[in-house]
This record gives sequence, structure tokens and C-alpha cells, in this order.
Amino acid sequence: MLKRIIITYILLLSILESHASSATDLEALQKDSGHLNQSEWRDDIQELRRMNLLVPIEHFDVEQIKGSYYQGRGGQRHEASDFIAPRFTPIHAVSDGRIEKLFLSRFGGTTIYESDPGGRYAFYYAHLQSYAPGLKDGDQVKRGQVIGFVGTSGNAPPNSPHLHFSISRLGPEKRWWKTAPLDPYEVFTKRAKI
Ligand SMILES: [Zn+2]
Repeated sequence: MLKRIIITYILLLSILESHASSATDLEALQKDSGHLNQSEWRDDIQELRRMNLLVPIEHFDVEQIKGSYYQGRGGQRHEASDFIAPRFTPIHAVSDGRIEKLFLSRFGGTTIYESDPGGRYAFYYAHLQSYAPGLKDGDQVKRGQVIGFVGTSGNAPPNSPHLHFSISRLGPEKRWWKTAPLDPYEVFTKRAKI
């Protein structure tokens, strides 16, 4: 009888432990994917609003990017906004900052990673037709400076030129490729309640 109780107890412990470890794994995964919790997200949106970022395409109605962030793409959330604009439309830096990397990506095509002066946020511009002449890694850029032109490089459909743009928070390691994304619409719009 006692033996049976002990076995049951051990069994129960092992079940509890396996549950505990899978919960931890999940947390680790969430952390690893760089997603922010609700309060971090609010703080970052407020901070980014204070930074008064420029909309990267001139005369663009930001209502057009509402919801774009949440759209599913190949089973994944988009986590960026698509600014539809004619090919060769100038793309402006949303903030003063540093060009961290000019990167040729299979999906994003001709892309730019820019960080803000505080090094807290990364701005990503993709599907460019081309870079602004002379732009290179490590350049300091000014808010509003033309850094490239709208195109369809990467996996953008050839008949729908647009700027794929994302904002994300850099992790403590400041790796521009490992970041926590935020909805640009929430940053650009004045009307969203936070
Ligand atoms: Zn996109």
C-alpha cells in the first residue's frame, strides 16, 4: 500500500515537473521571439510618439496602414506596415539615426536597417528600388533625409510597388536582426488610445 502511494506520488511529481518545464520552455520561446508584453508595448509606443517620427512617404495618409501590421502572411503575422506608393517615390528617414546595415534579403529585397540616436529602436525599410546614391553602412542620417526609393525588390509583387516598413525595439545586445516589433500605425496615428 505504502509502495503504491509512493509510486503515485513520484508519478504526480514527474507530471507536475513536465508541465512546469514546458511552461518555462514556452516563456523562453516567447522571450526569444522578442515579443513585448503589454506594458512594455505601451511604454514603447508612448516613447516612439514622443520621438515624433516622420511618416517615411510624403503626403501619405496613415489611415491606409491601419491593420496592416496584423495581416497574416504565409502563416505569420506581417508585423510591419505596407506604404503603397508609385515606384521611385522617395523614402525619408523617419528619425535622425544611424544606418546599421544595408542588406540584400531574399524576401525583403533591397533593405535598410536604421537605429535611432539612442540605439533603442530599429527602423526597417524593405522592397526598395534602390538606395539613395552614396548611402552606406554606418552613415548618420537626418530625419527626413531621402535614403532610398520605393520598388518591388525581394518578394513584392512586380505590379504593386510599396515600402514595407517596420519599427521594433532593439534587445539589450543591440542586434538589429533580433528585435521586438511594434505597430507603426499606433506610432504614427494620433487617434489611437493607449
Ligand atoms: Zn509588407
